[in-house]
Order: sequence, then structure tokens, then C-alpha cells
Amino acid sequence: MPPVLRLLASGAAISGPELALRLGISRAAVWKQIEAVRRAGLETVSERRGYRLERPLDLLDVARVRCSLPAPLRRRIGSIENHWRLDSTSSELARRAAELPDLSFVFADWQDAGRGRRGRKWLSPPARNLQFSCLKRFAGGYAALSGLSLAVGLAAARALEDCGIAGVALKWPNDLVHRDAKLGGILVELGGEFMGPCHAIIGIGINVDLPAAVRRSLDRACADLAGLCGGGLPSRNELAAALIARLVEALDAFDASGFSACAAAWAERDVLAGRRVRVDDPRGGFEGIAEGVDLRGALQVRTAVGVRAIDSGEVSVRSA
Ligand code: ATP
Repeated sequence: MPPVLRLLASGAAISGPELALRLGISRAAVWKQIEAVRRAGLETVSERRGYRLERPLDLLDVARVRCSLPAPLRRRIGSIENHWRLDSTSSELARRAAELPDLSFVFADWQDAGRGRRGRKWLSPPARNLQFSCLKRFAGGYAALSGLSLAVGLAAARALEDCGIAGVALKWPNDLVHRDAKLGGILVELGGEFMGPCHAIIGIGINVDLPAAVRRSLDRACADLAGLCGGGLPSRNELAAALIARLVEALDAFDASGFSACAAAWAERDVLAGRRVRVDDPRGGFEGIAEGVDLRGALQVRTAVGVRAIDSGEVSVRSA
């Protein structure tokens, strides 16, 4: 974290000359550091008394997150790291997948190349949201992993419920939503052998406190936890611990019985069920009524010519 941000983290205003003195740098260098975080979407205020952040920072402390997990879970998971800035937590895990133990977690306060599906971007400005990736190895091949991103979405929704956040729904295949506004996203990428031992890199991004500037730059309605729970926002550490616990629980269940074991629970949170949807498929789009998912996690869409099952990660489904 840039030293200037550590000094400003409490939300108190500090004058430019004092920041420069405490950091042993010029006032111009202070200004440059502040400009860099402001451009990345973190709201800073410059007023007569000096610079301050619009709201204090809720710093993530992964050592504390690890300590707060139940002992058996703590022993099972691999490493948990937090980086101030990464291109993407999933890219970082992919680079190190061979060397890291199973169930390792990489968090980043700031991702500047966060990824969605099909080359889309996931925006996450510094230190306000939660984004991390988890490495999970599987003994079987890719075929057994259909529905994994849905199982992960369900785990994330349950973790938020554990933290007192109600009303989180799921949009096939990989979105956490509140009503129709996007609250979080999941990206599962597979590596290793197609037919044999393989691994999933599971990326989760959740809007905890999305700055207005980032909201404005998005082409769709989005939600954040701060808006959902008003004053009682859980800390990022609490959220991280709940997400790790629910994710490991879900991955164990998935390893044992695939998506089918959680299909009913997923259906309870399915925001598209019964709605008219537009399916954008590179091979041709169509409309129909969404009728939930099957036991493999494929979306069922009723059309004039019957029910079509959609399981391609390349397809986009939106409310029509
Ligand atoms: P679909 O077509 O299924 O709706 P998608 O547009 O949700 O897919 P994803 O890959 O799931 O695609 O997510 C990437 C998209 O999410 C971006 O194109 C952008 O519209 C939106 N997005 C990016 N960052 C955020 C964020 N922090 N909060 C909410 N939405 C975001």
C-alpha cells in the first residue's frame, strides 16, 4: 500500500506539508501518490486542512482472517496471501498453481486487470471491495466440473447470509445480484489435464463499498454490500473469513457429488426463474422463458420449439 494511504487510512485529514514531512518526500510526490489512487477510483478529498479519504479504509488483514477460522479448517487450507496490487488474483494463482498447496487463497486490495467472462473486465478500485481467488485441485478431469461456478456462487451467497446480508440472489451462470443489480461475479478457470488431474482457479469479486466514480463508469446497474446493509456493514476481514469457510464447504460437497447436491438450494436463489430471457449465443441468439437449471447446472430455456439446455460459458443470458 502506498505509504501515503496508510497515513490517510483512518479518514482524518492531514496537510500536504505534514504528509511530506512524515513520509520524507516532496509535496509534489505526495500529490502524485494521491492522484494515482484517486484516478483508480478511491475517493479523496482535498480541503483546507489537507487531504483525506472520503471514508476510512477497512484494511484487510489475512493473518487475522486465518486466525478467525475454525482450527480444522485452518489446518486444511493452504496459504492465504493479500497483495496490495495485482493484475488479477486469478492470474497470480495461475502463474503459481504448480507450486502452491491445494486450497490456497490470493487476495488483492486492488486489481487493475480483473477479468470477467469472455474478455470482459471486472472493476475493483483500491481497498474498498473484496476480490480473491482460490486454487482447488480435482482428481478427475474437466467433465466432472460442470456447474462448479454455480456451486461457488451459492457458497458466496451463503457466506453473505452468514454475515447478516439478506436478499442476495444468483443469476446464471456466475453473478451474485441484488434484485437485478450486480453485486459480485465468479470466474472459474480450469487448468491441468482435460481427462485427468486438474485444477480450478476460482475467482470471486464482491462489491463491498463501490465508489460512485466506478459505479458511473459501469454500463449496468450494480449493487454493493454497503447499500444493502445500511449501517451494519461487516468488516472485510469478517466477510473474507465467511467466504473462505463457505467456499471450502462447497468445494468438499462438489468434489463428493458434483453440482446435483446443491441444485435445489441454487434454485431457491435463481433470479431468472420464470422470466423471459434473451440468450446471446455466438452461434445465434434466441428468446424464451428461463426454467431453472438441471442437475449439471445447465440453464433450461423454454422456446416455441421446446426446452433448450444451455451450458456454454460463452453464452450471455439477460432478462428480456
Ligand atoms: P452476462 O452477459 O452473463 O450478463 P456479464 O456481462 O455479467 O455476463 P461477466 O464476465 O460476468 O459478464 O462480468 C463482467 C461485467 O460485469 C463487465 O462487463 C461489467 O459490465 C460488469 N462489471 C465489472 N465490474 C463490476 C463491478 N465492480 N460491479 C458490478 N459489475 C461490474
